[in-house]
Amino acid sequence: MVSTKYNERIYLSSPHMSGNEQKYIKDAFDTNWIAPLGPNVDAFERELASHVGVEGAAAVSSGTAAIHLALRLLDVKEGDTVFCSSLTFVASANPIVYLGAKPVFIDSEPETWNISPQALELALHDADKEGKLPKAVIVVNLYGQSAKMDEILLVCNKYDVPIIEDAAESLGSTYKDKASGTFGKFGIYSFNGNKIITTSGGGMLVSNDVEALKKARFLATQARDPAPHYQHSEMGYNYRMSNILAGVGRAQLEVLEERVRARRLIFDRYYRELAHIPGMQFMPELVNTHSNRWLTTLTIEEKEAGISIGELLEFLAEENIEARPVWKPLHMQPLFEGARYYPHSQSDNVSEQLFKKGVCLPSGSNMTEEDQTRVIQCIKKFLGIES
Ligand SMILES: *Cc1c(COP(=O)(O)O)cnc(C)c1O
Repeated sequence: MVSTKYNERIYLSSPHMSGNEQKYIKDAFDTNWIAPLGPNVDAFERELASHVGVEGAAAVSSGTAAIHLALRLLDVKEGDTVFCSSLTFVASANPIVYLGAKPVFIDSEPETWNISPQALELALHDADKEGKLPKAVIVVNLYGQSAKMDEILLVCNKYDVPIIEDAAESLGSTYKDKASGTFGKFGIYSFNGNKIITTSGGGMLVSNDVEALKKARFLATQARDPAPHYQHSEMGYNYRMSNILAGVGRAQLEVLEERVRARRLIFDRYYRELAHIPGMQFMPELVNTHSNRWLTTLTIEEKEAGISIGELLEFLAEENIEARPVWKPLHMQPLFEGARYYPHSQSDNVSEQLFKKGVCLPSGSNMTEEDQTRVIQCIKKFLGIES
């Protein structure tokens, strides 16, 4: 483990600039189009929509804002319910609460770690019987892996409940050759600093409903009515993306495919080096899907591997390597205490098991081969394996 950079911190996923961002920022400065909106925003929306193959896109200040707007467009109000994947980042569900609605959390299934179609079916069946179907189902594609969209669409269409696809982590992934994030009524992406491409902070709402996107842009700019004075009939938000950040996004989008390739190579190398170790199981990739492998994630059976995951993470932290448990399921969060939850089956609580055993490894596309060697060697050292 002799490396001059031995002590440098290795992050889970840090921003990776292409070098072209400055060009678009310079354009914005040269024309003094700093704010608001402007040509980079329009172009970024067009370019992203065309990249994923939808009719339109609305650039906003975060992925969370995009989810909030999608819920507003589906008329989610106080007293409504919205179904949501349980195994996800809190941002997937917070906007439900912003609107005074109640989340119902749905477990994962083992093949994608994403929403379980059978648990979803049962939850919709119950809700229908109770005469209170949810206004929407938020389907999350974790760590780049698409959920089982065919099965999910089938049950949601049966009950006529629209889907919001939280593709914050899966931009650049596909399901049956169709872009992740384009299966629901609305899809959302995030350009937060740790995502596969970044604008430092930002998000995008996508849809084939161009009218709904127009309404989203209206709501995202304080819902200002067309009038010479300031006139408002609805409550809006200040959620639009700035013209400078959209410039960063345009340059990042140009290298998205490269970033996906890099992250998949990182996954492949971890797999080659670690998958044979007893007790280690990498996150699967569903047939007919292509994951961007945003984060390389695996589960470790502590008994089989003969280690404690907590101690492994501490050991890596001491070596200045950032690794983390997978998301803590939202139904286990104090914030959502008392919320309804549907497990995968009566005997199978998949998200809780994944939380107990799951670990995310550093996966940034700007990680060097030496960085990755350091991570692999540290893990092997902790396990007492010769490398
Ligand atoms: C990052 C993320 C979000 C939120 O995106 P922001 O741009 O940070 O608001 C939402 N859902 C998931 C699954 C995420 O990983």
